[in-house]
Formats: sequence, C-alpha cells, structure tokens
Amino acid sequence: MLRVTYERGLHLPDNGLWLDPQGARAFAFVSHAHSDHTARHAKVLATPATARLMRARIAGKREEEALEFGTPHRLGGGLATLLPAGHVLGSAQFYFQSDAGSLLYTGDFKLRPSAAAERTEWCHADTLVMETTFGLPRYRMPPVDEVRAQLIAWCRTLLDDGNTPVLLAYSLGKAQELLCLLRAAGLAVMLHPSVWDMTEIYRELLPGFPHTYARYKHSQVAGHVLIWPPSASRDELTARHQGCRTAIVTGWAVDPGATRRYKCDAAFPISDHADYDDLLRYVDFVKPQQVLTLHGFAAEFAADLRRRGVEAWALTEADQLELKL
Ligand SMILES: [Zn+2]
Repeated sequence: MLRVTYERGLHLPDNGLWLDPQGARAFAFVSHAHSDHTARHAKVLATPATARLMRARIAGKREEEALEFGTPHRLGGGLATLLPAGHVLGSAQFYFQSDAGSLLYTGDFKLRPSAAAERTEWCHADTLVMETTFGLPRYRMPPVDEVRAQLIAWCRTLLDDGNTPVLLAYSLGKAQELLCLLRAAGLAVMLHPSVWDMTEIYRELLPGFPHTYARYKHSQVAGHVLIWPPSASRDELTARHQGCRTAIVTGWAVDPGATRRYKCDAAFPISDHADYDDLLRYVDFVKPQQVLTLHGFAAEFAADLRRRGVEAWALTEADQLELKL
C-alpha cells in the first residue's frame, strides 16, 4: 500500500509527491486555484485551467507543468492521472498508481453538475483521500432545482419593485455558476471587479459561457442582479443604492440562522462541495480499501464510515500523523 502522511498538505514520502501543500515546495500538485490549496511553490502540476487561474490569483511566478484531464503522466515512480472534481473550473482529483497500490485524492469536489465546472469523474482506488467539508448528516442540501427557482424568484420580485438583488458568492466558481443561472433566466447581471476578472477567464476557457455581463459601475446598477464576494465591502453599495437586498449563496445556508450570521436578507444553500449524502455515495463509487478524510468534519465522517464497516481515518486530527497503509 502507498505510504501517506499529512503535514499541512498530503505527502507521499516514498514518491516525493506533495498534494495541495500549504507551505511552499519545490514541486507540488495543485488541485484548484482557491488560495487555501496553494502556496508559493517553485513548480506546480495542475490542469491548464487551474494554471491559468493561478496566474491571475496567486502572487509570484512559478514553473507550470500543465496536465490535461485523463492523460496518464509518469511521476514519482508511478503514473499520475487527473480527473475532473466538479468543484470549480479546472479543479482536479489526483489519481496515482504504483507498484505499492493506487490512491485517489479528491481535493475539493462535488457531484452535482454545474454549468461552470467540468462533470466529476471517478475510478476505483485502494486508498481514497477525500475532503469532508460537509461530513455531518445535517448537511444534506435541498434539491438544487428548487433552490435555483427560489433564488430567481427572489431576484425577480426585488427587480420588479425597483430594488437591487445582491448575491454574495465566492469570486471563483460560485459566482460564475450564478451568472450562468441568471443569464439563462434572462436577468441582467453586474459583477464586482474581482468577480469580473475571474469571469473573463471562464469566458476565455469555457466554450458556450455567457458573454453578456457588466462590470460594476455605480451609475448603472438599476435593473441588474449584482454578484459580490462575501469578503468585499458592501458599504459603497448600500450607501449609494438604498434598495439593495443581499443574499448569501453557500452550503452553510442549511444551518439555522444563516441570514443573521452572514448579515443578509436571504440565504440560498447551493454548494461547491459534496454534501453528506454525496460524500457517502462517493465512497460507494470508489470502493476503496481505506478512506482518509480531510477538512471540515473529518473525524466525525471517518467515525461514521467505520460504523458503516468502512476502514476510515481522519488525516487532519494530528498535524504530523503518519499512517502505514
Ligand atoms: Zn476550493
């Protein structure tokens, strides 16, 4: 079996491989371009889309080894293949085969299809290393079509009354999925500058991606749905436009009190991470001999899997945990 350790990133010591390390390395696989999955590495292995997005988001220069999905690549004494993770554009799972066994590392992933990310694929592996952001039974997302319809209806009602709906969503991934949804419903969309920057790359890379959207201009807000990063200041917006109503779009919206916690008027549970049921389904699809869990409710989900008869351990419980598999 492949030897795996966790030291602020997944490490395959016998193969000299680092997967999504948070400290700078000479060479690392980067699953996607969210900043919590990368650092100032000298050289990265990533999909072409992730490499492109990293150039726009992550400071510094790095050597890039771009690898297309589904193309086996000799690496670390084995064969590495990237599979779509469905999380954001270009997000990849890392599938590794060697004489010592096989491993599938999901990175951040989701199973539900989205207009702004590749369709998730999977394969059997001896060891499954998976993210477990929503690894508790209470994180079951409602049917996404219903939530999308509610979100569109919320926006339409506000626009009809001369108000401005503002959707709070991460600038990479969620924002572009919402843009596709709003444009398909015929609504005019205006983007915060940081969202606009990312969206221009989606338009460049994704055939069929909507071309009609505006960059934020305070004088032209009327009649538009705004997409705004949750972290960006809303002061200018609310000062200039009295009719602004905000909605957070996140999987955490299934928690009671989400509108109060995010200080907004509405909350819509659409997530870029697999929910609890999809995490269980994924284990079933991959049929691993052992599961290692990372992020979120890693220990709880691993314990849950053990109760279901699956060998499973949380990797993030200890920073220097070493497992001989
Ligand atoms: Zn992510």
